[in-house]
Amino acid sequence: MMAFIEPHIHMVCRTTDEYRAMAQAGCLAVGEPAFWAGYDRSSADGFRDYFVQLTECEPARAAKFGMDHYTWLCINPKEAQDVAFARDVMKLIPEFIDRPNVLGIGEIGLNRNTSHEMTIFEEHLDLAVRLNQLVLIHTPHLEDKLKGTVMILSALKNRPDLDPCRVLVDHCEEHTFPLVKEAGYWAGLTLYPTSKLNPKRAGDILELYGMDRVWANSAADWGDSDPLALTALACELRRRGFSRQETERLLLENPETFMGQSPKFRKVSSR
Ligand SMILES: [Zn+2]
Repeated sequence: MMAFIEPHIHMVCRTTDEYRAMAQAGCLAVGEPAFWAGYDRSSADGFRDYFVQLTECEPARAAKFGMDHYTWLCINPKEAQDVAFARDVMKLIPEFIDRPNVLGIGEIGLNRNTSHEMTIFEEHLDLAVRLNQLVLIHTPHLEDKLKGTVMILSALKNRPDLDPCRVLVDHCEEHTFPLVKEAGYWAGLTLYPTSKLNPKRAGDILELYGMDRVWANSAADWGDSDPLALTALACELRRRGFSRQETERLLLENPETFMGQSPKFRKVSSR
């Protein structure tokens, strides 16, 4: 059995059977960034409830299967379009940030690449610096991805107070992965069952650029997605001749290295 960490998944949307299937497949820990619920919340209090779910309910569900559960807090880029509303939600974050499973601020970033989204993205970066937190960044999908990633990287470049090693830019594809890596950040590869990046395309990227400063994830949520996508990637890497050590580096050691920069993260590989 392969041991792995699923560092980006939305377990609030998944069933208990899926927790069990992940544990049985060898998943030792999950990371769950705050995200859009599939609908807009009607008040900031909706986020207070969500933050309780992320910091109390999900760790308890994961623990029943021997898995560690970590989370990241923010208002997602989609609902950040309403700047006043977003600021009300952000005021809740300091109240939750010291909870034992919170690793940082995320997943922040851009959705439609608007100036309002950028305002809230930059205010989240301020918050991360002020509270000394890791940062997890969502990049927009499809035709907005390249432009959004370039906008995010140029905003990050203006932040000498933010150590690039403590920032991960997720949902990279062939055209954005090298930009993120060259700028010194961690890059994430997200696997989708029917659209966007799949195990074959991720395998090509890893063959080309190697395993440094990269993690892979399913980002499984309430939509068409697969919480066991990393097992499919492991098979694909094995088929291509990657060694067990290389596969384990990508799926276990790398997420440990990135998340382990938070003192709250408990190493699982040596347990
Ligand atoms: Zn996500």
